[in-house]
Amino acid sequence: MEKGTMIKVTIVMIVAMAIALLIRGIVLHSKGARDAQVDVEEMPFVETELEEKPYSGCIVVVDAGHGGKDPGKVGVNGTLEKDINLEIAMLLKEVLEEEGMTVVMTRQSDMGLYDESSSNKKMQDMKARLAMIEDCKPDLVVSIHQNSFGDASVCGPQVFYHESSEKGGQAAKLMQDALNTELEIARPRVQKGNDNYYLLTKCSAVMIIAECGFLSNPEEEALLKDAEYQKKIVAALRLGICDYLESEKNTSENQEGTIYEGDDEISSENLSYKIPWYSTENVL
Ligand SMILES: [Zn+2]
Repeated sequence: MEKGTMIKVTIVMIVAMAIALLIRGIVLHSKGARDAQVDVEEMPFVETELEEKPYSGCIVVVDAGHGGKDPGKVGVNGTLEKDINLEIAMLLKEVLEEEGMTVVMTRQSDMGLYDESSSNKKMQDMKARLAMIEDCKPDLVVSIHQNSFGDASVCGPQVFYHESSEKGGQAAKLMQDALNTELEIARPRVQKGNDNYYLLTKCSAVMIIAECGFLSNPEEEALLKDAEYQKKIVAALRLGICDYLESEKNTSENQEGTIYEGDDEISSENLSYKIPWYSTENVL
C-alpha cells in the first residue's frame, strides 16, 4: 500500500470511530432523559394504583335474569325482560367496579346457562346460577328482573328477599328505599319477603331480587328501555348495594363474624320448588 493511501485509510478510520462515539453519546443521553421522564410520569400512576377503593375486597354477584331461549316477561309492546335485565346488569357491573368491588356476572350476553341438549333447560340454568353464586361466596347477590301483572296500571320497582334472612331483609329495605328515592316513585312500594322463589330458597349468601319495573305498564315499559332511565336505575342499585355493604362493615366492626351466612351445602333434592318466572302467582 502506498503511503498516501495508508494516510487516507487512517483518516477514514479515525473519522468512523469519532462518529461511532458521538452516536453512542447521543443514545446514552436520550435514554437517560427518557428514564428521568418515565420516573416523573409514573409517580402519580403508582400512587393511584396503591390507593384503596372504598369497597375493595367486597364480592357482589350481579345476576341478569333469564337469557337465551328464556325471554322472561314480555312487555305490552314486545320488550323482552331478558334484554332489559342484561343492559342494566352490564351498566351495574361497571359502576360497582368503580367502587372497587369484585363483580361476578352470571351472564354477560344473551345466553342461558344450559346445554342445548338439556331436557330441562330452566332447571339446569337455575342450578348453574346457584353453583356460580355458592362458588364465589359473595357478600351480596343482586338478581335483576322486570315485573309483569294483569292490571296494566300497576307500576314501580319492588325488591324481594328470603323472608327468613335478616340480612336479606336489611339489604332489600335499603335497596327498595334507594330505588323509590332515586326514581322518584310517586306511590312507593315496600320490600317483600318470599319463601318459594328457587334461588332465594336455595342460595346461602345474602340475596335480593330487584324487580326494576313493570313491562305490563306501557309507560314503564318505555322507561325501562330508555338509556337515561336505565342509568337512574343503576345509580339507585349502586346506592342500595353500597348502603348495605356499609351497614355490614359497621356491624362486623362491632361483632365478630362474616357477612356470608348459611351453610355451603347445595342440595339437589326437592327440585319441585316453584320456578318463579313460570309461576302464575309469583310476579317475577
Ligand atoms: Zn324475571
